[in-house]
Amino acid sequence: MRQVRRTKHPDVTQSVPHGEIKTLILDMDGTLLDLHFDDQVWNYALPRELAARQRSALPEAKAHVVTTLNTARGTLAWYCMDHWSREFGLSLHDIEDELAHLIGVRDGTLEFLNFGHASRSRCVLATNAHPASLQRKLVRTGLAPYFDQIVSAHQFGVPKEDPRFWTEFTAQAQIEPSTAVLVDDNPAVLATAREFGIRHVFGVRYPSSSGSLKHYPAFASVNALDELLPWLRTRGV
Ligand SMILES: [Mg+2]
Repeated sequence: MRQVRRTKHPDVTQSVPHGEIKTLILDMDGTLLDLHFDDQVWNYALPRELAARQRSALPEAKAHVVTTLNTARGTLAWYCMDHWSREFGLSLHDIEDELAHLIGVRDGTLEFLNFGHASRSRCVLATNAHPASLQRKLVRTGLAPYFDQIVSAHQFGVPKEDPRFWTEFTAQAQIEPSTAVLVDDNPAVLATAREFGIRHVFGVRYPSSSGSLKHYPAFASVNALDELLPWLRTRGV
Protein backbone atom coordinates (compact mmCIF):
# COMPACT_ATOMS: atom_id res chain seq x y z
CA MET A 1 0.00 0.00 0.00
CA ARG A 2 1.46 3.35 -1.00
CA GLN A 3 2.23 6.02 1.60
CA VAL A 4 0.10 9.14 1.23
CA ARG A 5 2.32 11.76 -0.33
CA ARG A 6 2.92 15.06 1.37
CA THR A 7 4.05 18.41 0.15
CA LYS A 8 5.67 21.26 2.04
CA HIS A 9 3.58 23.74 0.16
CA PRO A 10 0.02 22.47 -0.13
CA ASP A 11 -2.31 24.02 -2.63
CA VAL A 12 -4.24 26.08 -0.11
CA THR A 13 -3.67 29.33 -1.92
CA GLN A 14 -7.21 30.06 -3.00
CA SER A 15 -7.81 33.71 -2.42
CA VAL A 16 -10.20 34.24 0.47
CA PRO A 17 -10.61 37.27 2.65
CA HIS A 18 -9.58 36.95 6.26
CA GLY A 19 -12.44 36.08 8.49
CA GLU A 20 -13.24 34.12 11.55
CA ILE A 21 -13.49 30.35 11.21
CA LYS A 22 -15.93 28.82 13.64
CA THR A 23 -16.68 25.37 12.25
CA LEU A 24 -14.53 22.64 10.70
CA ILE A 25 -16.67 20.18 8.71
CA LEU A 26 -14.99 16.90 7.79
CA ASP A 27 -16.15 14.16 5.47
CA MET A 28 -15.38 10.61 6.66
CA ASP A 29 -14.57 8.12 3.86
CA GLY A 30 -11.57 9.25 1.84
CA THR A 31 -11.03 12.32 4.04
CA LEU A 32 -10.64 11.21 7.67
CA LEU A 33 -10.40 7.53 6.76
CA ASP A 34 -8.58 5.64 4.04
CA LEU A 35 -10.93 4.86 1.14
CA HIS A 36 -8.98 1.63 0.63
CA PHE A 37 -11.50 -0.13 2.90
CA ASP A 38 -14.52 0.97 0.84
CA ASP A 39 -12.72 0.09 -2.40
CA GLN A 40 -12.13 -3.39 -1.10
CA VAL A 41 -15.75 -3.81 0.02
CA TRP A 42 -17.47 -2.54 -3.12
CA ASN A 43 -14.98 -3.24 -5.90
CA TYR A 44 -13.57 -6.58 -4.78
CA ALA A 45 -15.43 -8.37 -1.95
CA LEU A 46 -18.94 -7.67 -3.28
CA PRO A 47 -18.24 -8.92 -6.85
CA ARG A 48 -16.38 -11.94 -5.42
CA GLU A 49 -19.34 -12.83 -3.20
CA LEU A 50 -21.81 -12.37 -6.08
CA ALA A 51 -19.70 -14.47 -8.45
CA ALA A 52 -19.53 -17.27 -5.87
CA ARG A 53 -23.27 -17.18 -5.19
CA GLN A 54 -24.34 -16.96 -8.82
CA ARG A 55 -21.54 -19.22 -10.06
CA SER A 56 -20.64 -16.59 -12.60
CA ALA A 57 -17.26 -15.34 -13.79
CA LEU A 58 -15.66 -12.57 -11.69
CA PRO A 59 -15.41 -10.02 -14.57
CA GLU A 60 -19.12 -10.55 -15.25
CA ALA A 61 -19.96 -10.00 -11.56
CA LYS A 62 -17.79 -6.87 -11.47
CA ALA A 63 -19.55 -5.43 -14.53
CA HIS A 64 -22.93 -6.22 -12.96
CA VAL A 65 -21.94 -4.40 -9.74
CA VAL A 66 -20.74 -1.30 -11.62
CA THR A 67 -23.88 -1.15 -13.79
CA THR A 68 -26.19 -1.66 -10.83
CA LEU A 69 -24.43 0.89 -8.59
CA ASN A 70 -24.53 3.49 -11.37
CA THR A 71 -28.33 3.39 -11.40
CA ALA A 72 -28.31 5.28 -8.08
CA ARG A 73 -25.14 7.41 -8.30
CA GLY A 74 -25.55 10.81 -6.66
CA THR A 75 -28.64 9.78 -4.70
CA LEU A 76 -28.90 8.74 -1.07
CA ALA A 77 -29.66 5.16 -2.19
CA TRP A 78 -26.10 4.96 -3.55
CA TYR A 79 -24.88 5.25 0.04
CA CYS A 80 -27.53 2.93 1.55
CA MET A 81 -26.28 -0.47 2.57
CA ASP A 82 -29.81 -1.75 3.13
CA HIS A 83 -30.78 -0.74 -0.41
CA TRP A 84 -27.81 -2.57 -1.93
CA SER A 85 -28.21 -5.59 0.32
CA ARG A 86 -31.74 -5.96 -1.09
CA GLU A 87 -30.63 -5.28 -4.68
CA PHE A 88 -27.79 -7.80 -4.63
CA GLY A 89 -29.50 -10.33 -2.34
CA LEU A 90 -26.73 -10.46 0.26
CA SER A 91 -25.61 -8.55 3.36
CA LEU A 92 -23.27 -5.62 2.77
CA HIS A 93 -23.16 -5.29 6.56
CA ASP A 94 -21.62 -8.78 6.82
CA ILE A 95 -19.06 -7.95 4.13
CA GLU A 96 -18.05 -4.74 5.95
CA ASP A 97 -17.78 -6.68 9.22
CA GLU A 98 -15.55 -9.27 7.62
CA LEU A 99 -13.20 -6.60 6.26
CA ALA A 100 -13.37 -4.28 9.28
CA HIS A 101 -9.66 -4.84 9.97
CA LEU A 102 -9.00 -2.74 6.83
CA ILE A 103 -10.71 0.37 8.26
CA GLY A 104 -7.88 2.85 8.72
CA VAL A 105 -7.29 6.47 9.68
CA ARG A 106 -5.41 8.49 7.06
CA ASP A 107 -2.03 10.08 7.74
CA GLY A 108 -2.51 13.57 9.18
CA THR A 109 -6.05 12.93 10.47
CA LEU A 110 -5.18 12.62 14.16
CA GLU A 111 -2.92 15.67 14.02
CA PHE A 112 -5.78 17.67 12.50
CA LEU A 113 -8.36 16.38 14.98
CA ASN A 114 -6.14 17.03 18.00
CA PHE A 115 -5.68 20.59 16.75
CA GLY A 116 -9.41 21.03 16.10
CA HIS A 117 -10.37 19.57 19.47
CA ALA A 118 -8.05 21.97 21.31
CA SER A 119 -9.21 24.99 19.27
CA ARG A 120 -12.24 27.20 19.78
CA SER A 121 -13.71 25.99 16.50
CA ARG A 122 -16.37 23.32 16.43
CA CYS A 123 -15.45 20.05 14.72
CA VAL A 124 -18.29 18.36 12.84
CA LEU A 125 -18.24 15.06 10.96
CA ALA A 126 -20.70 15.10 8.05
CA THR A 127 -20.91 11.92 5.99
CA ASN A 128 -23.11 10.29 3.37
CA ALA A 129 -22.28 6.91 4.92
CA HIS A 130 -25.08 4.69 6.15
CA PRO A 131 -25.53 5.03 9.94
CA ALA A 132 -24.49 1.38 10.51
CA SER A 133 -21.31 1.87 8.50
CA LEU A 134 -20.63 5.16 10.29
CA GLN A 135 -21.02 3.44 13.65
CA ARG A 136 -18.79 0.54 12.61
CA LYS A 137 -16.04 2.93 11.55
CA LEU A 138 -16.31 5.11 14.67
CA VAL A 139 -16.08 2.07 16.93
CA ARG A 140 -13.12 0.73 14.99
CA THR A 141 -11.16 4.02 14.90
CA GLY A 142 -12.22 5.67 18.18
CA LEU A 143 -12.63 9.04 16.45
CA ALA A 144 -16.05 10.00 17.91
CA PRO A 145 -14.71 11.93 20.96
CA TYR A 146 -12.95 14.41 18.67
CA PHE A 147 -16.25 15.74 17.30
CA ASP A 148 -18.79 18.18 18.68
CA GLN A 149 -21.35 16.72 16.31
CA ILE A 150 -21.59 13.70 14.01
CA VAL A 151 -24.11 13.70 11.18
CA SER A 152 -25.16 11.13 8.58
CA ALA A 153 -26.97 12.50 5.52
CA HIS A 154 -29.44 9.63 5.99
CA GLN A 155 -31.03 11.54 8.87
CA PHE A 156 -31.96 14.30 6.39
CA GLY A 157 -33.08 11.98 3.58
CA VAL A 158 -30.82 13.65 0.99
CA PRO A 159 -27.08 13.27 0.24
CA LYS A 160 -24.47 16.03 0.60
CA GLU A 161 -24.58 16.50 -3.19
CA ASP A 162 -28.08 17.97 -2.71
CA PRO A 163 -28.45 21.64 -1.68
CA ARG A 164 -31.25 20.65 0.69
CA PHE A 165 -28.73 18.78 2.84
CA TRP A 166 -26.78 21.99 3.46
CA THR A 167 -29.89 23.99 4.25
CA GLU A 168 -31.12 21.48 6.81
CA PHE A 169 -27.73 20.47 8.20
CA THR A 170 -26.48 24.00 8.84
CA ALA A 171 -29.80 25.02 10.38
CA GLN A 172 -29.89 22.02 12.69
CA ALA A 173 -26.20 22.25 13.64
CA GLN A 174 -26.38 26.06 13.87
CA ILE A 175 -23.50 26.55 11.45
CA GLU A 176 -22.91 29.95 9.83
CA PRO A 177 -21.74 28.96 6.29
CA SER A 178 -19.53 32.04 5.87
CA THR A 179 -17.42 30.95 8.87
CA ALA A 180 -17.12 27.27 7.95
CA VAL A 181 -14.45 25.07 6.35
CA LEU A 182 -15.30 21.83 4.53
CA VAL A 183 -12.86 19.09 3.54
CA ASP A 184 -14.33 16.36 1.32
CA ASP A 185 -13.05 14.04 -1.44
CA ASN A 186 -16.23 14.36 -3.51
CA PRO A 187 -16.08 17.26 -6.05
CA ALA A 188 -19.87 17.27 -6.43
CA VAL A 189 -20.22 17.78 -2.67
CA LEU A 190 -17.62 20.55 -2.68
CA ALA A 191 -19.47 22.29 -5.53
CA THR A 192 -22.84 22.09 -3.77
CA ALA A 193 -21.37 23.27 -0.46
CA ARG A 194 -19.60 26.22 -2.07
CA GLU A 195 -22.71 27.16 -4.05
CA PHE A 196 -24.65 27.09 -0.78
CA GLY A 197 -22.15 29.43 0.83
CA ILE A 198 -19.63 27.33 2.76
CA ARG A 199 -16.69 29.75 2.68
CA HIS A 200 -13.65 27.47 2.43
CA VAL A 201 -13.75 24.10 0.65
CA PHE A 202 -10.87 21.69 0.04
CA GLY A 203 -10.53 18.39 -1.80
CA VAL A 204 -8.34 15.39 -0.89
CA ARG A 205 -5.82 14.30 -3.53
CA TYR A 206 -5.29 10.67 -2.48
CA PRO A 207 -8.53 9.45 -0.83
CA SER A 208 -7.32 5.84 -1.05
CA SER A 209 -3.79 4.77 -0.12
CA SER A 210 -4.06 2.15 -2.87
CA GLY A 211 -5.69 4.45 -5.42
CA SER A 212 -4.58 7.14 -7.83
CA LEU A 213 -4.33 10.92 -7.68
CA LYS A 214 -7.67 12.70 -7.69
CA HIS A 215 -7.81 16.10 -9.40
CA TYR A 216 -9.90 19.06 -8.26
CA PRO A 217 -9.74 21.60 -11.10
CA ALA A 218 -12.20 23.93 -9.38
CA PHE A 219 -10.96 23.65 -5.79
CA ALA A 220 -7.89 23.84 -3.58
CA SER A 221 -6.83 20.44 -2.28
CA VAL A 222 -4.49 18.72 0.17
CA ASN A 223 -2.77 15.37 0.42
CA ALA A 224 -3.34 15.09 4.16
CA LEU A 225 -5.52 17.05 6.59
CA ASP A 226 -2.65 18.29 8.73
CA GLU A 227 -1.40 20.33 5.76
CA LEU A 228 -4.23 22.74 6.60
CA LEU A 229 -2.97 23.48 10.11
CA PRO A 230 -0.57 26.33 9.23
CA TRP A 231 -3.33 27.97 7.17
CA LEU A 232 -5.85 27.58 10.01
CA ARG A 233 -3.36 29.00 12.54
CA THR A 234 -2.95 32.13 10.44
CA ARG A 235 -6.70 32.57 10.79
CA GLY A 236 -6.57 32.31 14.54
CA VAL A 237 -8.29 28.92 14.77
MG1 LIG B 1 -15.75 10.87 1.06
